[in-house]
Amino acid sequence: MNEMNGMGRGPMVDPTKYPRITCDKCGHHVFRQASIIYNIPGIVAGSGTNDMPFPCPVYVCDKCGEIIKYVRDELDKIEAEKEKNKEAIKGSSLIL
Ligand SMILES: [Zn+2]
Repeated sequence: MNEMNGMGRGPMVDPTKYPRITCDKCGHHVFRQASIIYNIPGIVAGSGTNDMPFPCPVYVCDKCGEIIKYVRDELDKIEAEKEKNKEAIKGSSLIL
């Protein structure tokens, strides 16, 4: 048995046997890659005072442009968490 077939890693699955993910807004099933770009403060990125743009790939519907739902849910969670942290920071005095 040769385990180095195909992609080499992980179980051999034929993705076409499984349901396609469709856009929850328009039902389209073709997505294209787009990016969300986070701005990393230079002090965190280690680049001094220069902020570092950090692109994260996401998939958006090729028809209506909506971000694929499960990614959107994750992003919403992350953003909600960020908002919460922002409130917490606002609550305390400014510490840099
Ligand atoms: Zn769509």
